[in-house]
Amino acid sequence: MKIRDMLGKGNTTVSFEIFPPKTTYPMETIFETLEKLRDLSPDFISVTYGAGGSSQGHTVEIASRVKKDFGIESIAHLTCVTSTKDSIRQMLQDIRNSGIENILALRGDIPDSFREDRSWKPEYRYAYELIDEIVDFGGFSIGAACYPEGHVETRNKVDDLKYLKQKVDHGVDFLVTQLFFDNELFYQFREKMDLVGIEKPVIAGILPVLNINQVKRIQEISGCNMPPKFLRILDRYEHDPKSLQEAGIAYAVDQIVDLLSFGIEGVHIYTMNKPEPTRRIMESISTVRYSEARKVISR
Ligand code: FAD
Repeated sequence: MKIRDMLGKGNTTVSFEIFPPKTTYPMETIFETLEKLRDLSPDFISVTYGAGGSSQGHTVEIASRVKKDFGIESIAHLTCVTSTKDSIRQMLQDIRNSGIENILALRGDIPDSFREDRSWKPEYRYAYELIDEIVDFGGFSIGAACYPEGHVETRNKVDDLKYLKQKVDHGVDFLVTQLFFDNELFYQFREKMDLVGIEKPVIAGILPVLNINQVKRIQEISGCNMPPKFLRILDRYEHDPKSLQEAGIAYAVDQIVDLLSFGIEGVHIYTMNKPEPTRRIMESISTVRYSEARKVISR
């Protein structure tokens, strides 16, 4: 099923992100994780592409098995900035042959070795060029990334929003956000999207913080704002991993309940391949998620 057909039907979708195991881990570990995630009945599962050092080669295989073996709709992430046109077309063919119907189209981060190479001529510079390629290829529902607090490379948030609109206008069906810890910043971003006429469903990316190293990495990669309430948790429980994990799960639940009250179209949980915290979150939100009073923003 195409993800565009799941959204805007009066329900908030709840989906998960997983990543292929690092090359040093056996492939089977991800299928053990998926056994446990399946019991939580997500609307779909996304599989990252080469993010955080995970293997690119396994994205299509895992996304295909999520659908065929686990009976859950899947979406394959795909990045383009270091790829050639030929390799992207081959990849689109592989994705189609694997029965996957959804792609999250991304530029990807530019590795330092490419930036420093003066002879490097990227065949794709921005995600919208990959989106053109996928639209041309045909047959997929296309998602793209958005950044409520601005993309890390951007010097000007107005331009960032202009480029987001350009990307959406090239054929995006829905957006998935970078993780954020401050819902108010997300709501302000939504208002700005409305003002510039970006009218596609937005799925909010939520990361339950499970350890302090993860928080440090997130700060480096995304530079996202950490509100005082969140910083107090980090200060208090930095040296008490068990309590930090409990507080991290409670914070994520609090964020999701607030987003459900807002009427968000979808919530995407960055599971970090950890089923147990994800299960705890799903249990805590289940009553609110299916409340009679639910009302999703209509677009
Ligand atoms: P773009 O939309 O192309 O934007 C990149 C930058 O270029 C922005 O600063 C933007 O303002 C600017 N820009 C865009 N268009 C133009 C233009 N026409 N002219 C000038 N400037 C422009 N990375 C991975 O490697 N693998 C993954 O699986 C992965 N999954 C992700 C999932 C989500 C939900 C998110 C939010 C990010 C993910 N990323 C992943 C990270 C992503 O690849 C990086 O953040 C990357 O740096 C930007 O990708 P993009 O598709 O948002 O780029």
